[in-house]
Amino acid sequence: MKRILITGAAGFLGSHLCDRFIKEGYHVIGMDNLITGDLKNIEHLFKLEKFEFYNHDVTKFVHVSGKLDYILHFASPASPIDYLKIPIQTLKVGALGTHNLLGLAKDKKARILIASTSEVYGDPLVHPQTEEYYGNVNTIGPRGVYDEAKRFQESITMAYHRFHNVDTRIVRIFNTYGPKMRLNDGRVIPAFMGQALRGEDLTVFGDGSQTRSFCYVDDQIEGIFKLLMSDYNLPVNIGNPHEITIKDFAEEIINLTGTNQKVVYKSLPQNDPLQRQPDISKAKEILGWEPKVGREKGMKLTFDYFKSLSEEELNKKEHKDFSKHIKK
Ligand code: UDP
Repeated sequence: MKRILITGAAGFLGSHLCDRFIKEGYHVIGMDNLITGDLKNIEHLFKLEKFEFYNHDVTKFVHVSGKLDYILHFASPASPIDYLKIPIQTLKVGALGTHNLLGLAKDKKARILIASTSEVYGDPLVHPQTEEYYGNVNTIGPRGVYDEAKRFQESITMAYHRFHNVDTRIVRIFNTYGPKMRLNDGRVIPAFMGQALRGEDLTVFGDGSQTRSFCYVDDQIEGIFKLLMSDYNLPVNIGNPHEITIKDFAEEIINLTGTNQKVVYKSLPQNDPLQRQPDISKAKEILGWEPKVGREKGMKLTFDYFKSLSEEELNKKEHKDFSKHIKK
């Protein structure tokens, strides 16, 4: 039986990856320090013999006994609000955490796939973004802690590949959504859906002319799976190129949810990218992958998930309490 280590296993993408690899018949070792992740996302797997879970911070030395065939490094805060609140952990998990996992991959002769992001392109001056674009990142801005950690992560991954011959993959993930997103993580989809369900106005930041392109989680997981199984070492964009302005998106959510609320405008966060759309030619050509789930269907499935949450969860307005993880 193939054995795979998934870091960030209790998070949004990590938990979907655990499900996928269990379904594929793998022995899955999940790891998470639960700063932003939630055990609720994987508790259904605990009864399985082929699933193990370790509550561990990957910025500390990572030990896994026995053989390992694959490592997926998905541990990281991933929403702008989270990485503003825990900037140092964000830098450490992208840098030190990645270093530890690359060392583990080298030791175990395991193939490792690193979760990178469209944030490596920053506020892009090239549109849509191809993998060849180097990006436009403000190193010292509020998003710099995430963007630069992920850029360093790509560099050290390529260095381990070139210098130590480690078998590496890099996926650049564009905005992805679906069930198990954290309701209060501040990202636009849970924010709008939570607001609609609580009967609040939808908060559009800036004038709403900034664009994003949203990929349904099942498509994202399929793209990651195909990349892991490919023999391609350079970064690959995985996302849905169907682009929309945030203002139009708010209107779509109003129609989907049937809320009577309106859109209200708030100030635009610093360095919020003005446009984002993946060029997925590489994924199409190399992996034979393209997204299949359109926004209408994906948003409905996601709304059904948020609707199924308890009143208590829905009304827990504060973001996750990070205080016990933060040393001042
Ligand atoms: N956004 C918004 N209202 C919200 C949350 C986010 O208008 O309540 C905007 C945000 O400024 C950005 C876009 O939605 O332009 C996507 O934000 P998100 O935090 O989901 O992810 P990002 O792509 O910026 O990392």
